[in-house]
Amino acid sequence: MNEQNILIVRCGEVALKGMNKPYFERMLVDRIKKNLKAFDGVELRRHEGLIFVRAEKELELDAIIKEISKVFGVASISKAVEAPSELNAIGDEAVKYMMKLIEERGIKTFKVEGKRADKSFPVKSPEIGRIIGAKVLVGCKVLKVDVHNPDVLLHVDVRSDRTYIYEGKIAGFGGLPLGTNGKGLTLLSGGIDSPVATWMMAKRGMLIEAVHFHSYPYTSQRAQEKVEDLARIVASYCGRFKMHVINLLPIQEQIVTNCPEEETTILVRRFMMRIAERIAKDTGCMMLITGENLGQVASQTAEALVVTDASVSLPVMRPLIAMDKVDIMDKAQEIGTFETSIQPYEDCCTVFLPKHPTTKPKLERILESESKLDVEGLVEAAVKSQEIVNIIPE
Ligand code: ATP
Ligand code: MG
Repeated sequence: MNEQNILIVRCGEVALKGMNKPYFERMLVDRIKKNLKAFDGVELRRHEGLIFVRAEKELELDAIIKEISKVFGVASISKAVEAPSELNAIGDEAVKYMMKLIEERGIKTFKVEGKRADKSFPVKSPEIGRIIGAKVLVGCKVLKVDVHNPDVLLHVDVRSDRTYIYEGKIAGFGGLPLGTNGKGLTLLSGGIDSPVATWMMAKRGMLIEAVHFHSYPYTSQRAQEKVEDLARIVASYCGRFKMHVINLLPIQEQIVTNCPEEETTILVRRFMMRIAERIAKDTGCMMLITGENLGQVASQTAEALVVTDASVSLPVMRPLIAMDKVDIMDKAQEIGTFETSIQPYEDCCTVFLPKHPTTKPKLERILESESKLDVEGLVEAAVKSQEIVNIIPE
């Protein structure tokens, strides 16, 4: 025995949910189960606010941890061994555990951190640490105690049914389980920002649907494939979703022909938002999500954002609004979208880029320009022309 085939999964904020806690925990377990579908013989158990995952094969454990760490709502994971909640049995397991680490890593020092979650257990937490530490010293002659900087900090977590022995925690992303916070329609481009924005909203429990605009044949087929690649990476966190794909070119041509050049970008953005709003309403999405960020480009000045917002009535979520670009890029690296985002393909926004875009658009002026267009008709036609791509995680 002494196989590390048990995982302790800690729920982050889910644990703070008071009366709703059982609901959030159930959603979390469902999500973990979904992510582990491909593994045979995995058992999940909820107990005392933790989730215990038992794998049939220790070999699969790292792959299983990788999947679980992608589940929103998971704060951390530990590989553990278990023992009956009785001091001699715990001591024996702790010795075996440390012998293995001596063999594998040549560890020399340790400290035991005892914890009694079960208050009816006759020995208090600090005392557990001392007793098990003494047993390890006897069982593993090469080891010494180092309370300040040990090679291994051994956790002994005594619970009512059994005791778990482990070292270290693998961090999850935290957040809330998918499906606990409605559904949002994300405007997904091929850039760095929108995949991160989408991921951040999904992390708060929001289900995702997406819309992507292109200007084919000005933008290439390959550019759209890049967006689908990005979407699949996002889907590995938020599950499969639909992406509505729309050719914006007919609208862009109308704008370029009929409206002042410097207003092109903001006018295009207002059309994107209107089309997105229509799709959102058709698909049960409660909000729009964009990767906009205050001041990053001409279309994202405070004035431009106000004029953009005025085109729709649904709330627009902009989770990156106050982040610095370097932090957004770090996040993109962390979640694995960065390398795909920086592949150099054209985007519909860059097709008719004005030389001097207005950075302080006035709504009245924009409305006047739009009065030269059949806004309703163009939106209607764009929505009708949509193609739907099913985004399925790899
Ligand atoms: P990103 O890196 O997300 O492309 P950006 O910094 O390039 O953002 P913009 O091009 O102004 O900024 O786009 C702002 C937001 O508008 C994007 O984050 C995205 O939500 C949406 N958007 C832009 N282009 C498209 C597109 N082709 N399809 C769908 N949404 C888009
Ligand atoms: Mg962009």
